[in-house]
Amino acid sequence: MYRVAQSVAFLAGTYLLLNDRPLLGLLLLFSVFGSWFFDRFANRVVKGSGRNLSAQSSDFHEKCFVADLHADVCLWRRDHMKRNKRGHVDLPRLIEGNVSLQFVTIPTKLVLTRRLPRFFFPDLFFWTAIMSLQRPRTWFFASARAELQLERVNAWIKNSRGSLKMIKNANDLQGLSQNQNTDGQNIGIMLGLEGAHILSGRFNVSWLIEQGIRVVGITHFNDTRFGDSAHGWRRSGLTSVGHDLVKDLDDRGIIIDLAHCSEQLINDVLAMHKEGDLSRPPIVSHTGIKGEHNHRRNISDEQAIAVARAGGLIGVTFFRPALPCNSVSAVGEVVLYLIGILNEAGLEGVRHVAFGSDFDGAVRTVIDSSGWPQITEMLLESDISEEDVQFLMGENVRRFFVEHLPKFAIT
Ligand SMILES: [Zn+2]
Repeated sequence: MYRVAQSVAFLAGTYLLLNDRPLLGLLLLFSVFGSWFFDRFANRVVKGSGRNLSAQSSDFHEKCFVADLHADVCLWRRDHMKRNKRGHVDLPRLIEGNVSLQFVTIPTKLVLTRRLPRFFFPDLFFWTAIMSLQRPRTWFFASARAELQLERVNAWIKNSRGSLKMIKNANDLQGLSQNQNTDGQNIGIMLGLEGAHILSGRFNVSWLIEQGIRVVGITHFNDTRFGDSAHGWRRSGLTSVGHDLVKDLDDRGIIIDLAHCSEQLINDVLAMHKEGDLSRPPIVSHTGIKGEHNHRRNISDEQAIAVARAGGLIGVTFFRPALPCNSVSAVGEVVLYLIGILNEAGLEGVRHVAFGSDFDGAVRTVIDSSGWPQITEMLLESDISEEDVQFLMGENVRRFFVEHLPKFAIT
């Protein structure tokens, strides 16, 4: 279907270009390569960030359970079974990076409220859906975009013939851990939703559970009826509908992700947890920390401490402006800073820090998914003990989800 749309766009574009409609013609011709173009230029890796690993680091990395809390892998039209020259994640690169558990997170709306004037139709996924010749429903409906990404991830898992396995409950994760030790190629995929925009009508919490989604971010780049975003206009917290949604998600076994949420919303969810309204701690899947780099998408030091105190996890991300600069060593600085402030607050800091790369999230990252051994080596060089490096690389994520996901299938 895509090939047919590409051919029609190519022929129509050429015809219009040659017949006094150059702008429309160029626009159609651009759409022939739109998908490739967005992926190629949005998802880059910092040049020269690779390093020659020591044999000792490589051997140690092979023994690590590596987990990534956040990547928008299936937002892009890409053959994820082969090694691509563009983007950050595909099966060969996951194997090369010795990744054990990869979150595939589903973003459905990208409204850059502060950057674009309000009269402009500001949902960037509207434009990318058209220019990538996606099916028309995805031009307008966030739910259709979620369905498309779910189709892609399910096809990827099916085509992998057992290399990838969907993780839906604690038992699946424990099974994965055991297999990982024996064959090293059984990679777990967990699903997250980035922003709760689609929740309406038949796209309800039961639908999320059916699809296998086990982590839900309440907001993304814009304020919603559930609550406010760190990037939005209102800067308030959870609405009463949002309060009910958070409670419902928690009751049904889904973990709340506070990435991209406004300060007030983060405080509101933490207050719910403190008052005993929530049984599962929240995570912040991909973030930096304001004490290291004061940016609106990062959480404050106090909030990091509060998330850890609730038993939650903080996923350090791999790109600037969340990081103070775009380098592997900057990731290390943020990790050490976080552990330091959590320790000072009387917590065991190293048990609450993890990684959420934001691979394929239209960002320029310090590595791609084949580059995880570089993170391991950087941590080993930072005087962190081998046991603690294993916690940071993924054991913390494994422990957290084994403890907080329901044991068996949830309904
Ligand atoms: Zn994000």
